[in-house]
Amino acid sequence: MQLAFDNISTDPVHLFEEKDIKISVLRLDKIHPVISGNKWFKLRYYLEEAKEQRKKKIVTFGGAWSNHIVATAAASKTYDFLSAGIIRGEEPVQLSPTLLQAKDQGMQLHFISREDYHEKKLPPEFQNDECYLVGEGGYGPKGAEGAALILKYNKEKFTHCCCAAGTGTMMAGLIRAISPSQKVIGISVLKNNYDLEKNVRSILGDERKEWQIIHDYHFGGYAKYKPALIKFMNEFYGQTNIPSDFVYTAKLFFAIYDLVNNDFFPYKSKLLLVHSGGLQGNISLPKGTLIY
Ligand SMILES: *Cc1c(COP(=O)(O)O)cnc(C)c1O
Repeated sequence: MQLAFDNISTDPVHLFEEKDIKISVLRLDKIHPVISGNKWFKLRYYLEEAKEQRKKKIVTFGGAWSNHIVATAAASKTYDFLSAGIIRGEEPVQLSPTLLQAKDQGMQLHFISREDYHEKKLPPEFQNDECYLVGEGGYGPKGAEGAALILKYNKEKFTHCCCAAGTGTMMAGLIRAISPSQKVIGISVLKNNYDLEKNVRSILGDERKEWQIIHDYHFGGYAKYKPALIKFMNEFYGQTNIPSDFVYTAKLFFAIYDLVNNDFFPYKSKLLLVHSGGLQGNISLPKGTLIY
C-alpha cells in the first residue's frame, strides 16, 4: 500500500475572478485512488492508541460504500493489525467494490441487521481484549487530533477553510488547526442533522475559534443526489480538472460556488476548500453519469 502524501497539492481554481475571491483546493484526493482523503488522518491516533494497548484487531462500523471501512482496512494492514468491519444489512450476493477492496486488504466482513446496526450492537465475537473499537466514521477527539494535521499540507494563505461534514470530526480538527483570525465553514452532507453543532462542540471542549455549519446543501440527505449536483460535478471537472465525489466533496464545492455567487463571503476572502477524497464512492453511480 503506497500512500503518496507528497502528492498533496494546493491547487488554485479560477472561477470568480470578477468577485475578488480567491479559491484554492487542498487535494487530499491525490493520496491514493481508493484510500484518499481525510480517513487516514482521522485513524492515525486511534491506531497508535491500539498499539500502545497491545490490541490485535481493529473493529469498526460502516455501510457497503463506506470510505471509512476501506481506509480502516488499509490502515490496519499497514500498522500490522487484523481488522474487522461490521457492515450494515444482509450480506449481498455480490459485494460492492468498496467491500471487495476492504476484503482485499485483509478485512473480515461481518454483516448485521439494520436494526442491530442502528444500535451499534457489537457482535459477541468482537467483545474481547484483543479488539480495539473505532467508532463509525472515526468520530471523536482522537479522530479530530489526526485531522488537525491536514492543514500542515496546505501552502496557501486563507481566511476561510471550507470542508464537507459528516460526523464533524474532520471539521473539529480543522477548527483546532486554524489561527484565531481564520474561520472554518462546514457543509453538512446529512439532512437536518442539527446534532452536528453539538457533536463538533463536544470534541472541541473550550477551544474558542470561529466556525459555522451550513445545512442547506444536502441534496436530499446522506448519499442522495439530484441531477443538478451531477451536472455541477461534470461542469466543475470541465472547468478545474478536479474530480469530486457525490457524497461529500461535490456538495461542498456546489455550496461554496453558490455561497460565493450570493456574496456570502466578504470581498477579498481567500477560501481553502479541503478536497477530502472519497472518489471511490462514485463507482456506485450508474455508468456514464460522470465524464471522469
Ligand atoms: C468521511 C468523509 C468526510 C466527512 O468527515 P467527518 O469527519 O465525518 O465529518 C468528508 N469527505 C469525505 C470524502 C469523507 O470520506
